[in-house]
Amino acid sequence: MNRNRGEEKMKNAKLIHIVTYSLVIVGAVNWGLVGLLNFNLVNTLLGSWPTVEKLVYILVGASAVYDFATHMKYCKYCGEKK
Ligand SMILES: [Zn+2]
Repeated sequence: MNRNRGEEKMKNAKLIHIVTYSLVIVGAVNWGLVGLLNFNLVNTLLGSWPTVEKLVYILVGASAVYDFATHMKYCKYCGEKK
């Protein structure tokens, strides 16, 4: 029973990691597009829903903080003990 709960936790952590990581990539690529082409993809897609657009920016920021905070656990370079 405890083992199952542990596996469930791992699954959730993996899911959160996939979601937050995807959001960070979306944010980074969007920022790159703004810099390169002055094209804001998030604004183009969600500009008609300013609240949703803002929510995406907030989620991207929160995901970046989350991934930074948990980075050491899953990064094979930073997690290395030497
Ligand atoms: Zn690292």
